[in-house]
Amino acid sequence: MKTKLKKLYEGKAKIIYQKNIKEVHAYYKNDATAFNNLKKGSIKDKGKINNAICSYLYEILNNADIPTHFIKKIDKNTQLLEKVDIVPIEVLVRNYFAGSLSEKFGIKEGTKIPDALIEYCLKSDELGDPHISPEHIFTLNLCDPETLELIDDYSLRVNDILRSVFYTVGLKLIDFKLEFGISKKSNELVLADEISPDTCRLWDLKTNEKLDKDRFRRDLGGVEEAYLEVMNRLGLKI
Ligand code: UDP
Repeated sequence: MKTKLKKLYEGKAKIIYQKNIKEVHAYYKNDATAFNNLKKGSIKDKGKINNAICSYLYEILNNADIPTHFIKKIDKNTQLLEKVDIVPIEVLVRNYFAGSLSEKFGIKEGTKIPDALIEYCLKSDELGDPHISPEHIFTLNLCDPETLELIDDYSLRVNDILRSVFYTVGLKLIDFKLEFGISKKSNELVLADEISPDTCRLWDLKTNEKLDKDRFRRDLGGVEEAYLEVMNRLGLKI
């Protein structure tokens, strides 16, 4: 979509435009990055595919009364969102060992975690998003204990919902990353940012085939096909 709106911010996968003081447009790009920007590329139709998947998931979360920034999908690449002040914490929710957690503890990828595990990273490209504890969060004043409790509560509820949405279409939700913000509209804590194969690890239930950004990170090939597969299984189109 050609837009005359003022560009507020251009990130690795999206451009944010100011619609008014309480709302923004998020334009999903095809650009892909990994390893804190060291690996760069482009995935055909990724913007449209991730917008379709993300919009669909946010509609489900809104209907389940999780407060989110999502208002509606506007066109193939664009969403209308509540403007938020992002809480500078990345929340990682894990149902199985994978990625950095597997490396850290030498436990095979795909090993089940009995109860979902929540980890936090400081949102900082310069520092490479270091892992942090709740004590770090309070010392650095990133949010107060009540807000972190709410973040944990919403994150686990989102996990339950997404796990069952993906399970129904034959996908295992291995782990994912969430972000939260304070809405300019409601002044409340809301779920924000993208949820897509860029931010979730999704494996085929039967074959354990990876259908997410690890295909790009690890040069496994078939990246666009994997994203399309997730979209098609959810019954979505671009
Ligand atoms: N993740 C993300 N953005 C980040 C870091 C992680 O979307 O900046 C997602 C990642 O796709 C995975 C989950 O969070 O689904 C857990 O990531 P992990 O720490 O294992 O990432 P790795 O270091 O292996 O990329």
